[in-house]
Formats: sequence, structure tokens, C-alpha cells
Amino acid sequence: MNNVEFDDLIGQLRQENEALKVELEEKSHKALQLEQLILSKDRAGLNLKQAEKAHHEELLLLRTLINHLPSSIFVIDNQYRKTAFNEAHLKRIETTLGKQVKLSEEDILGKTNWDVYPKEVADQYYEEDRKVIEKGETVIEREIFQTDKLGNQVWETISKIPMRDDDDIIIGMLGIAHDVTKNKLAEIALHDSEERYRFLFENNPAPMLIYKRGSLQILAVNEAFINHYGYKKEEALTMVLPDFYPENEKETIVQFTAGLEGYKNVGEWHHQKANGELITIISTSNDIVFEGQKARVAVITDITNRKLMENKLKASEEKFRLISNSAHDGIFMLNEESRLIYWNPAVEKIFGCTGEELAFIDINRLLLSPKQEDKNDRVIQVSSIIDTFGETGLSLDVEVKRRDGEFIQIELSLAPLKISDLWGAVGIVRDISERKTVEKELILSKERAEESDRLKSAFLAMMSHELRTPLNAVIGFSSLIEETMEVHEIMEMVKIINDSGNHLLSVIDSIFSLALLQSGTSKVLTEDFPLSNFLTGLKPYITTRLVKDKKEHLDLIVNTNTVNPELIIRSDRTKLTQLMINFFDNAIKYTTNGSIEYGCMVEGSSFTFYVKDTGIGIPNDKQTLIFERFRQVEDSLTRTHGGVGLGLSICKEIAELLNGEIWVESKSGHGSIFYFRIENIVAE
Ligand code: ADP
Repeated sequence: MNNVEFDDLIGQLRQENEALKVELEEKSHKALQLEQLILSKDRAGLNLKQAEKAHHEELLLLRTLINHLPSSIFVIDNQYRKTAFNEAHLKRIETTLGKQVKLSEEDILGKTNWDVYPKEVADQYYEEDRKVIEKGETVIEREIFQTDKLGNQVWETISKIPMRDDDDIIIGMLGIAHDVTKNKLAEIALHDSEERYRFLFENNPAPMLIYKRGSLQILAVNEAFINHYGYKKEEALTMVLPDFYPENEKETIVQFTAGLEGYKNVGEWHHQKANGELITIISTSNDIVFEGQKARVAVITDITNRKLMENKLKASEEKFRLISNSAHDGIFMLNEESRLIYWNPAVEKIFGCTGEELAFIDINRLLLSPKQEDKNDRVIQVSSIIDTFGETGLSLDVEVKRRDGEFIQIELSLAPLKISDLWGAVGIVRDISERKTVEKELILSKERAEESDRLKSAFLAMMSHELRTPLNAVIGFSSLIEETMEVHEIMEMVKIINDSGNHLLSVIDSIFSLALLQSGTSKVLTEDFPLSNFLTGLKPYITTRLVKDKKEHLDLIVNTNTVNPELIIRSDRTKLTQLMINFFDNAIKYTTNGSIEYGCMVEGSSFTFYVKDTGIGIPNDKQTLIFERFRQVEDSLTRTHGGVGLGLSICKEIAELLNGEIWVESKSGHGSIFYFRIENIVAE
């Protein structure tokens, strides 16, 4: 039975009881009226017979009425004999006795209780009846409880009133008994239910309180409340609801509770415990009537720890967000289908995509390398990372194409992880294009360093060879000269010594020239001189060299056709000469047959000096390299032509010093043309 049903039943029973009472009162009143009527009739001296008839009729009426009353009514005389009773009383005796047979009026009328009930029951009745009949006491609605012979529990209220004659002598007793079993049962049920609710309230593990509406006086708090808040029960019961709230919430809670009605989840507030500790709570409350007063019962949940955890979680999320947002590396998460479910701004930056473009995109679409672009091969499958790569995941360097079309080199590492029981992956992506470039440069410079180390060794070996050869000649031949020798023999040796000395000097000269040029100590000294004069002035040097090198058979062509004989140029004549001489030396050195031609082509403000030969030529792949220090087409010591590989380096340094350009055009076996171009050297 629920509360409402129970309340209804109680209400119904109470109503029934009230109705019975009213009916009984009305009927007693009527009996009184009848008595008065009889008396008044007597007084009026009416015909006795008529009066008797009327009296008989009235008694009949009264008896009928009494007989039909549900309450048990009986009268006993001062001899304890039942002189009158109604149907209900007869029934009551029947149920008390538990007899199956029906009792008739004769079985009871004029009989005492001892005649009807077992002795102990009759004695019990006598005990009380005696007080009424012999002492004139009145029993009003005494509650009696008994179990009838059928085993039913029966509650009654019994009233016993002494009956007196005109002389105020007690002549008997009127007894009226109401069956209040239904009410009593309801009362017991109500009590039980109240007990149950009280038990639930008291023993509820959640703190609970009941406060009075209006005054907000605390009417009850449960055990959990006392334990949790640390107040004593008596103390709590002297408090009002706002007392539990911190200063800044007191006023608000007063206003808030005023508007509360029915079942409400009243949201998040703060309560102060007895020790001053502030806790965060949520509360649900409802209207109740408590001890006849309008009140609200509230169940409180302390969410301080939950809040603390939430805040910690928020703080840690915030920390992660900050780290993730400011990270240069892209951080992302994939779901089981290899789709992006989280990424930081760096991922957008690296792939050049917007957030919308990245949302839920298959990672493989981002990783498509330029070569795979059309194939749409699936590279990464989160669902099989563990099987394929194990717990540590995978790490790869790939070239990918950004949204803007730029190719970048990325390093990607992907580790599997479980997200809500499903396999996913967390990945880190880094743009390593710059690192790759640096790496390439590093490799290059390492190779260069190794090359230069190799060259240095080769150079030292060559220098040793180049310097030792003439020195050996000088020392060797000079030690051979003796007084006894013929003059022409001595002269031959002296010539060899002189040649070797000169060669040694030229090698040392080259080294010093280059060192000077490279150290920046060599200054440009400009002077004005006629171009044609400069060109023709070089001719004697070549002729001498040709003779010296025994290459007089080579044709020497001086091309001054393109040059205005009046043209005066301004430049460093010595350096220009040095450059041209180096070109000539090589042309003569590397040409056996044919010709050597030189000149200057003037085009506007541009002057291009050249030396052309019909010598061995230079293979294409060596045409840049020969301008580097100590670099030669043939690096081996067994090379057929002399030289230390410094001549062209000197030319290059001079060209740079004079703000010019140097290059070669050549074909292996067909000769070479060395060029040197400078601008704006016409003297004003
Ligand atoms: P080297 O003292 O070895 O001549 P250079 O720096 O003057 O040094 O020249 C570098 C290399 O370039 C030479 O060793 C040679 O292999 C090549 N070379 C220079 N000039 C010519 C040329 N006119 N014909 C063919 N090869 C040449």
C-alpha cells in the first residue's frame, strides 16, 4: 500500500467513524426525545392506554433503531443480567465465542456473562461492570483488544454508563462498544509507515535535512548529516537553513527557497561544515508536511571531491591543450579507422590544411607521397599497427605534398593506444624538410672535407714532387761541377741549375700569389692604358715561352681586329697581365700542334679577353673543377704535363678581384677557349 492509498484509507475510516458517531448521537437524541415525549404526554394526562400504546410504539421504534446500529449496545441490571441488547451485540458475542451456531435473543436475554462466556472472560467483564454498577464510575471509550475464536484481531472501544432510577439509585448499566479494528489497523499501518520513513530518513547514507517553509528553521537532520557536517543534532536543530551557507550565498538561498515548489533539483551550492570547511553540494528537495508543518526535505550530495577531480582534470586538460597548441610538432589522434579525431594547430600548419579539411580525414590521404598520389595505396591501418609494428608502433620519413602543392619531408611516428576499449593511435609529425636540407649540406660538406683532405695529401705529394725535382736538379748538378771539367760541360750544368731554380721560383711564386690573393691583402691598383697596346705587349712573352718550351712550330694569332686602337681602359694592368699569362702558360703547356690565339672582344661596355688553343681540351665534367685550387684534369703524379693546379685558381681570384667573370669552353681533344669578361673599364 503506498502512502496516498494509505492516507485515503485512513481518511475513509475516519469519515465512516465520524458518520457512525453522528448517527449514534442522533439516535440517542431521538430516544431522549421519545422519553421526553412520553413524559410530556403523561404530564398532559392523556389517556393511559393511548399513552401505553404510544410508549410501546416508541419503544419498538427505539428497539428497531438500536437493533440496526452497527455498534454493540447492551443494558445489564444491577444483578448483572442482560436486560436489553441489539443485533450488533448478539453478533459480537457470537464472534467472541466463535460459535458456529447462531445465538438467539433468548440465549442471552436475562442471562449473566457467566451464563454466556467462559468463566475467566465473564470474571474479567465483571471486574469492570462492578465499578460502574456498584460505584457509579463511568468508562469512556476504553480501548480493548482481543483475538476472537476465529483468530481475528479485534479492537473495540467500550463505554459503560451507570443507569439510575428517579431516586438516583443505580439500577443497571448501559454499555456501548464500537468495533474500531479497521481504524486501529490503519493507525498501526500509519505508525508502521511513519516508522519506516523515519528509519529511511535516519539511516539514509546521504545527508538529509528538513526545514520549515518560511522561517527556514531546521526541523530534522539525519545521522549522515550529523556525521558529515560535524554539528551536534541539538545544535543543528537550533539553526536555520542559511546558517549552512557561506556569507555570499546566504541572501540568495533565502530568495531561492522562497520560490521552490514540488520536487526540485536545486543545483550547486556551498555549505559550511561545523569546522568551517566549505564544501560544494548539490541538493534535491521536495515539499512535505512534517509534524503538521509545511516543510521541505532535502537530500544533499557532497560533490567537493568530484569538483576537485573535475578541476584537476580541467587543469590537466588545459595544460595538455597549451602544450599541444604551442608544440611545433604536429600531435594527432586516430580512431580505429585511421581517421583523424584530434590534431593540434601544428598539424594544420605542417600539412597546410584547415581544421575542416582535417576533420575525420583518413591519415593516408595526408601521407600520400607524390609518387603514390594516383595509386591511393593505404599505408597505415590503425587496426593492424600492433600486428604489423608491435606495441612501439611505427616511425617513418616520407615526402608528402602539402595542400599548396609544396613537397615537404616529414617524420612521422605512430603509437597504438586504446581509446574506450577500441584501438586507436597517437601520432607525432614533424616537418624535417629543413633538417633534410641541412643533412644533405652536411653530407656534401663532409664529402668536400674528405675531398679536400684527399687533395691536401695529393697536393703535399705533388708539392714535394714539384719542389724536390728542381731542387734535386740544383743540388745534384751543382755537386757534379768540378775544376777539371770542360767549360762547355760546366755551362750545360749551370743552365740546368738555372732552369731548375727558375722553375722552383715560379712554383713558389704561384703559391705566394694565390695566398696573397686569397688573404685579401692583394690590392687592385688601377691605371689607364690603351687596350691594343696591352694586347700586343703580351706577344713577346708568348714568343719567348714558345721558344723556351720548344713549341715555336705553334701558330700565334693576336686578334686585335675588334679593338679600337684609341681605346683606353682603366684596370689593374699587372693583374690582367698575370691572368692572361696563366691562360698562355696552359695553352702552350697543353697544346702540341696547331695554334694559339688571343684577343679581346668589345661589346658595348663589356670586354671579353680570350685565349684559344688547339690542345688536348678539357672534358665537360672537369670544366668547373679546374678553377678550384690544386685541381687538375689528371690528378695523378704520373700526369704528363707539369704544373701544380694553381694557375686557374689564381685567375679566378684575380677575376673576382677585378669584378669579372671567368669560364672555359672546351671539347676534349679539340682544344679550349678560356674567357675573362669585365664590364665598364673604359677610362673617362
Ligand atoms: P696546372 O699548373 O696544373 O696547369 P692550372 O690551375 O693552370 O694548373 O690548370 C688546372 C688544370 O686545368 C690543368 O692541370 C689541366 O688539366 C687543365 N687545363 C688548364 N688549361 C688547359 C688548356 N688550355 N688545355 C687543356 N687543359 C687545361
